[in-house]
Amino acid sequence: MQIRKLPSQLIDQIAAGEVIERPSSVVKELLENSIDAGATELDIDIEQGGIKLIRIRDNGGGIQKDDLPLALERHATSKIRTLDDLEKVTTLGFRGEALPSIASVSRLRLTSRATDAVHAWSIEYGAQAAPASHPPGTTVEVRDLFFNVPARRKFLRSEKTEFAHVHALIRRFALGCPGVQIRLQHNQRPLEWIKAAFDQEAMERRVAEVCGSDFIGHCLYLENQAASLSLRGWIGLPTFSRSQNDLQHFYVNGRMVRDKLVSHALRQGYNDVLFHGRHPAFVLYLDMDPSSVDVNAHPAKHEVRFRDSRLVHDFLFRTIHSVLAGAQAGRTATPLPRVLKDAAAADVNPSYPAQQVALGLDAAQRLDSYRMLYGKGSRDSARETEGIYSPDMTTGKVNQHSVTTLSMPTAAGAVNEQSAVAPLGYALAQLHGIYILAQNERGLVLVDMHAAHERITYERLKALYAQQAVHSQPLLIPATLHVSVREADAAESLLDEFRRFGLELERTGMEQLRILQIPSLLKNADAAQLVSDTLSDIIANGGSGRLQDAYQEVLAGMACHASVRANRQLTLEEMNALLRDMERTERSGQCNHGRPTWVQLGIDQLDQLFLRGR
Ligand code: ADP
Ligand code: MG
Repeated sequence: MQIRKLPSQLIDQIAAGEVIERPSSVVKELLENSIDAGATELDIDIEQGGIKLIRIRDNGGGIQKDDLPLALERHATSKIRTLDDLEKVTTLGFRGEALPSIASVSRLRLTSRATDAVHAWSIEYGAQAAPASHPPGTTVEVRDLFFNVPARRKFLRSEKTEFAHVHALIRRFALGCPGVQIRLQHNQRPLEWIKAAFDQEAMERRVAEVCGSDFIGHCLYLENQAASLSLRGWIGLPTFSRSQNDLQHFYVNGRMVRDKLVSHALRQGYNDVLFHGRHPAFVLYLDMDPSSVDVNAHPAKHEVRFRDSRLVHDFLFRTIHSVLAGAQAGRTATPLPRVLKDAAAADVNPSYPAQQVALGLDAAQRLDSYRMLYGKGSRDSARETEGIYSPDMTTGKVNQHSVTTLSMPTAAGAVNEQSAVAPLGYALAQLHGIYILAQNERGLVLVDMHAAHERITYERLKALYAQQAVHSQPLLIPATLHVSVREADAAESLLDEFRRFGLELERTGMEQLRILQIPSLLKNADAAQLVSDTLSDIIANGGSGRLQDAYQEVLAGMACHASVRANRQLTLEEMNALLRDMERTERSGQCNHGRPTWVQLGIDQLDQLFLRGR
């Protein structure tokens, strides 16, 4: 076969394949051009999902008449000139590919009036510029996308689906340029009017518009700076996790990116507070020196490459991790409770989705759902009454070997502190053996005692384990445990690992184990039950030599199995000690599975329930 040069239109069409996949990709490129031109107002008209028409008008700097034909030419750009410029791109576009690509697969008209021009000029692909009427700024009109590329057109989905993509793109884009007003019409019906946001409050409104008010009501605002990196934005509380990664917006120097390194770092930041398979929600802006990030990594510019990826990963991870660690019970985690001021919605614990506050549920139902959540927590199970939240555990006596940072309040001490302000207040009573009712300054606090205790135990175990300080103590009477051969085998092969977790075991028969020592922290737990539960977890998770790797899961499992069960009566002192522990434990706003551990019902909300003061 003879080698031939391709005609330039075909070259453009091939190139278009990389950038222009569907109407939303056209919209993205056009919006980027408008922002690069300094526009503050964008008017977007879409017809038939963008397949028939995409028209975007901006009030930016415009294009001089002589430059109009160049704008449609391949590799023609006003944004970079030299290779050096490519090293520090500050504009969203720079490849000079978008307009020629779009023009080669649609009917494109470009109309523009430069700021200092007397009137506007308009041009179509391959034709001469003609005078036109247009205010300062630019309008790009894209009709009949892929009319000349049937293969591509075939891949377009329904009008509705394409529009959904366009709409989602515009909303995502809007978060990246808060100072810009955006109006959107679909099939000549006004659909969206996103006003420019110049202050924090307006910005939060924009975030709420795009991500839903639920998100803004259950998130933390953060700002952090280190070296040349700066991160700010909103991250959803772990209890506001999603089943999809659809609420993740990340901007690097204003450019929206989907980046593996970023996702990984953020996921790590949520490690340990997010239930398995759930996805965090966030709107985050990372700003950095443009020369430390390569934006020329992907034709559609979705991905970036960080020069120092370790540094960026570390910075993101640490920031998220420490912000979430600060989300302790009793602290008003979010500065934004106002969004959820619905009557009777118990929304004050920001980590508690309002719709889950089932004030109307009767006790039986709640018990049922509790059992569902905890599986084995049936009411009359013997184990349940083996709760271990006894005063002993909180006196610190059992834990002389623990590190000093883990101060254990005494139950009595907590009571004496009554005069001081305690965020979670003081216990009044226990409800159905499940919830602690407490009174604090704002009103009523409800605590799920198992969930709360589990988190506290877990955080302690983790800290001790990290310090290699899991102190164990011998059982007065070694406990004998009957297990399956498989479990005994697993236990035998993991004796050393168990020891590191403070469990001293020996195999005494084919199907028999003996427990000699258990972690002091868990001394009141049912040792046999604890070991057998841990073993079955290990087997279920297929963990053979990986106990060490999976140590967080093992610790979490131990914490769960060892934590106070439903229906165990606690004294007021015990309850207060638990509340104080919650206040000083990191991440105690959520249990290990990401469920909330407490809810606040303010006096005003109680008043509303009783129609008081109306
Ligand atoms: P790039 O954005 O990579 O430069 P494009 O093909 O998207 O490439 O645009 C080509 C050029 O056309 C830009 O460099 C810019 O000078 C000009 N241009 C495109 N859209 C606009 C606009 N809305 N306002 C002003 N100038 C524009
Ligand atoms: Mg561009």
